[in-house]
Amino acid sequence: MTDDRYAARRLRALEAAEAAGLAGLLVSPGPDLAYLTAYTPLPLERLTLLVLTPSIDPTLVVPTLERPLAERAAGARGPVSLRDWRDGTDDPYAIVAGMLGPGRYAVTDRTWASHLLELERAAPERSFVASGEALPLLRAVKDPDEIERLRVVAHAADAAFADVISLPFTGRAEAEVAAELDRLLREHGHERVDFTIVGSGPNAASGHHEPGERRIEPGDAVVMDFGGMRDDYCSDITRTVFVGEPTDEERDVYAIVRAAQQAAFEAVRPGVAAEDVDRAARVVITDAGYGERFVHRTGHGIGLEVHEPPYIVEGNATPLEPGMTFSDEPGIYLEGRFGVRIEDQVVVTPEGAERLNDATRELTIVA
Ligand code: ZN
Ligand code: ZN
Ligand code: ZN
Repeated sequence: MTDDRYAARRLRALEAAEAAGLAGLLVSPGPDLAYLTAYTPLPLERLTLLVLTPSIDPTLVVPTLERPLAERAAGARGPVSLRDWRDGTDDPYAIVAGMLGPGRYAVTDRTWASHLLELERAAPERSFVASGEALPLLRAVKDPDEIERLRVVAHAADAAFADVISLPFTGRAEAEVAAELDRLLREHGHERVDFTIVGSGPNAASGHHEPGERRIEPGDAVVMDFGGMRDDYCSDITRTVFVGEPTDEERDVYAIVRAAQQAAFEAVRPGVAAEDVDRAARVVITDAGYGERFVHRTGHGIGLEVHEPPYIVEGNATPLEPGMTFSDEPGIYLEGRFGVRIEDQVVVTPEGAERLNDATRELTIVA
């Protein structure tokens, strides 16, 4: 990745801040700092903060002992000035306050409350707002490199699914299948596994079931929702499989969810509101009589974080743009009995949408 790309991102962030009536953006360790500087320190009680404001060069305020690492990461990526501060002698909040002209500043959502409160004390004339609220789309439009990374990690999750369905399910605990998914995700190139949800039988009716000791039985539906990270970008896929022959009702519900997932996918194109994609899935499920059983939004953005804007939900009128990436994951949950969810990641293209996952969505029967 070229230094220019990070400099261009910082420029775009500043333009977006200006357009939102903000005097600048204060960026704490986390995905936003990684996105804007390639620097990924652990968040600490010692202040590390990137100050982006039109009147000065981008400046990373860092503890003196972190300076060498910060220099290697962020300092090497175009013109980021470093300003280090020393324990016991310097007040890092006063240093930041000295860089801030009057006005309102967006503070990234991962900023610790303790840091923001100190900053408010040191800069009483300035006001602060959450960047998630003021600049929700900061990282929403992915560049081709980001889309490629998302595609690679999505395909690694697809490969884990293709492998897991050839393993036996009957008689195994959910937690054992979850452990297999963890192993397979890593085998297919994940550097980190973030979640391996396995919900069988009645547990499949719970959206975020914690896999437990329940033994999987013939006749169960099994919802598997799993993902992790490779090259800083996240995967997240859900498939529902059946242990032995499903009932007619299970076949119907599966077909409805699959049709809803497809309808949402076909609704995606530039200019369409995020909420219209949610409606496209919801109308299919509602018309089939299961509207009350689709208890969550249709999707969430994905990138450096597994859940990020844009959220595909009623009330979000954000127009979709080429390069936005998000999940398409409707579900139907019949409490105490079974549930079905199907989830792919998609990218908005100039003409419509493309799926980043290509694991089969055909009804799959496992042993
Ligand atoms: Zn494999
Ligand atoms: Zn998921
Ligand atoms: Zn998801």
